[in-house]
Amino acid sequence: MDVSAYAAARCAVFRAACGAVPGAALVVASFIAIGTAAHAQRATAHDASSRVLVIDSVRVVDVAAARTGALQRIVIRGDMIAAVTNLDAPLPATVDVLLNARGAYAIPGLVDHHVHLVPRQASALERAARGGVTLVNSMAGDARVAGEYARQVITKELAAPEIVYASVLAGPGFFIDPRFRGAGVGFAPGTAPWAQAMTDTTDLVRAVARARGSGAEVLKLYAMLDSTLAARITNEAHVQGMRVVAHGTVFPARPLQLVQSGVDVLTHVPYLSWQGAPSVQADDAFKRAEGPYASVAVDGAQITTLVDAMVKAGTALEPTLYVFLARESPAVMRAWSLALTRRAHERGVPIVSGTDNLIGSDTAALPNIHAELAYLVEAGLSPAAALATATTVPARVMGRSTTHGAVATGFVADLLLLDANPLEDIGATRKIRNVVLRGRVLGR
Ligand SMILES: [Zn+2]
Repeated sequence: MDVSAYAAARCAVFRAACGAVPGAALVVASFIAIGTAAHAQRATAHDASSRVLVIDSVRVVDVAAARTGALQRIVIRGDMIAAVTNLDAPLPATVDVLLNARGAYAIPGLVDHHVHLVPRQASALERAARGGVTLVNSMAGDARVAGEYARQVITKELAAPEIVYASVLAGPGFFIDPRFRGAGVGFAPGTAPWAQAMTDTTDLVRAVARARGSGAEVLKLYAMLDSTLAARITNEAHVQGMRVVAHGTVFPARPLQLVQSGVDVLTHVPYLSWQGAPSVQADDAFKRAEGPYASVAVDGAQITTLVDAMVKAGTALEPTLYVFLARESPAVMRAWSLALTRRAHERGVPIVSGTDNLIGSDTAALPNIHAELAYLVEAGLSPAAALATATTVPARVMGRSTTHGAVATGFVADLLLLDANPLEDIGATRKIRNVVLRGRVLGR
């Protein structure tokens, strides 16, 4: 099978799996570009840990406070931000690269909390980094693939976003579907450590340990699990130090039951409509995008109870608007998704950005996180709140709030320099002057 056919097949695996996605697999790599970038990177890697980069005369955007300050200087040593100072502070004794950023706004690197990684995606990953994405959460796929990319990012063979990935759990009925086959090559359906079929008699301690042993930090509850099993899995995951992301409904477990189970994130906002369905069966998982939108009001009692339970439990909502709105989809689903995103945000639910489709095949195009941010503003979030969904909020959700999500001393040196202020217009995130990835200035 050639590269594009393979990618297309993998697309087929996850298109239905994630509810969608024209272009999801259009991330076929340009091998020439990868080779060149990797070679250039290795040539400079020897002294990278002590290299000093100074970004001068920049306005740092404080996402949490929704404001920008005076002109400042960012001092980066190796991978980390060593200091953010006034311009009259003394320069470090040694400066390897001095970047005059007058007129630019610095924001933290963007997080896409919902992507899928496939083989031969290296150049697309590098393109995503040049387009401002510095950390991704891969929500389903082959852990061997995600793990290899993650390793190459750590060794700096790949100038790509830092990678965290999930292991998928679902009822056995879901693995009769061929969609998971590509992600579990070499394993019988439902037996790969990163894609396991779960029943009431599964040894949960072992299943979670296997998932964790595959390198996954996250468990994704996918489909065909009842509320009792979802709660038991979530509890064991937390005991073993893993986070849990659940589809908005996992059939028959409803959203409110998942929140009460303690899951950390509900993903795909349209699926929350099933909270108001008269009945929810396991088999409904195969038609999960066809929720009862017309009959379930986002400001009705059932959804209000759900939203308030999320606020109380601290459950984040990952709407993944891009994957539903960037293609033809029913007007009623679009309106419902935007309205619930707004209502959840207004009542205090933490919102996390995820695209379900990191970047398209057009090599001139930016990653889709920029479109997701625009959709969130369309839903009713302020530009600052939208920016938080791809910076401070995912940093907290991913357990990285002391190292990611801010341009501040002691944080990882992942940042974007923009030509306009994103607090005034979220479209400014597209106006990228430079991306700094773990202390390295990336070429455009
Ligand atoms: Zn997905």
